[in-house]
Amino acid sequence: MDNANFFDNFCKYFDKAAALTNYSAGLLEQIRMCNSVYHFKFPLRIDEHNYEVIDAWRVEHSHHKLPLKGGIRYSLLVNEDEVKALAALMTFKCAIVDVPFGGAKGGVKIKNSNYTDHQLENITRRYTAELIKKNFIGPGIDVPAPDYGTSEREMAWIADTYTAFNSQPGNTDAFACVTGKPISQHGICGRKEATGRGVFFGIREAVNDKEEMKKIGLKPGLGGKKVIVQGLGNVGYYAAKFLQEDGAIIISLAEKEGAIYDPKGFDVDNVKKHRIETGSILGYKNAQDIGNTYDALEMECDILIPAALENQIHSENDNKIKAKIIGEGANGPITADAEDILLRKGILVLPDIYLNSGGVTVSYFEWLKNLSHVAFGRMEKRHNEIDDYNFVSVIENLTGKKLPKDQQNLIIKGASELELVNSGLEDTMVQSYHQIKEVKNKNSKIDNLRTAAFVNAIDKVAVAYMNLGIFP
Ligand code: GLU
Repeated sequence: MDNANFFDNFCKYFDKAAALTNYSAGLLEQIRMCNSVYHFKFPLRIDEHNYEVIDAWRVEHSHHKLPLKGGIRYSLLVNEDEVKALAALMTFKCAIVDVPFGGAKGGVKIKNSNYTDHQLENITRRYTAELIKKNFIGPGIDVPAPDYGTSEREMAWIADTYTAFNSQPGNTDAFACVTGKPISQHGICGRKEATGRGVFFGIREAVNDKEEMKKIGLKPGLGGKKVIVQGLGNVGYYAAKFLQEDGAIIISLAEKEGAIYDPKGFDVDNVKKHRIETGSILGYKNAQDIGNTYDALEMECDILIPAALENQIHSENDNKIKAKIIGEGANGPITADAEDILLRKGILVLPDIYLNSGGVTVSYFEWLKNLSHVAFGRMEKRHNEIDDYNFVSVIENLTGKKLPKDQQNLIIKGASELELVNSGLEDTMVQSYHQIKEVKNKNSKIDNLRTAAFVNAIDKVAVAYMNLGIFP
């Protein structure tokens, strides 16, 4: 798969939107380009006599707000162009969901399965030490998170390395140097599912939008919608699971080794279990196996969710896509030229910079939790319960009637951290969708949601730069 033009692709999307704004060319160039690109190499000891040199990057796209934010990817496909594009996308994601960060991204060019856990730990700790040396990490500087090929485990190693280097007395905020940590290491409930849950909320909002559904000839509502998901990783798995739980029918799931199809729909948890047990998605119960996984993208469905890597829909398959809606769970799954074709075919595209921003939204909550040193809901949970109890008692005394226990339980309830995180995420995804729609409806030259999302983000970043006094 060719991903050499990912940053150019981002620029095409950006330029299309920038042309619809009135900002000066200099300001637009400042918003578009990557501010700092740090490429470094470090040795990994493989055994007593052998070393391997590892290639790694951290790209800081925009410093209009601090800290910067974005995941770290471990993959053999990692290259400078990819990390630059992913860093740029982070700036726009944060702006769209009003998370007060600039965008950044990290990458290490490795194939995880080639290394032992111990070697992966060494790589992660050394990567972190290199970032510390150059001031590319810190709670107020640049805050990494998981991405493709990394998880809570790597984030715990990063946090531990950073705190070891920053253990001076009084430095109580060091754990805010990275998000997506395990709960036991100052993580937050709901972060792991957050990107997939955000994809679900975003798609649900779009299919409830009568105006958009009318244009593509679909009935509003998720119930009965036929969905295809590419990628059963952290994003795809949770997106598929939450969509299924809300009544959508997951007719096909695609992974590296192939895809499976069943018009009656899959139980996503069972498929995941099957893949863990057998090592492959193929051979699942009575489902039809599809040997060429890319064929799944071209099948009839209402909603197609590419939730794996970039450049999945391109000049060779754009004309064959039959979905009515494409929800970009991954970053950059559609090339800019392919999107023109999809839009001409009347497909509704929910862009990555909106749809997969649930991860960074909950990362923001985790960062806030780390800086405030208290779990969300801890101070007010019991107080709210007592308030609710008193309220119910007053109503019961006034009316002389008793509220049934199940209804009491609905009212007398302080929110847990998970409930607060999920409601904060839901509200963010709903509000941001309507912000983007408002931008689109205000300007008749904007004919799609991606351009509207970019215009919305460019406006916010431009205002920040102008308020810094850097641009008039
Ligand atoms: N890697 C995720 C993304 O691409 C999360 C970033 C974050 O939480 O900082 O959005």
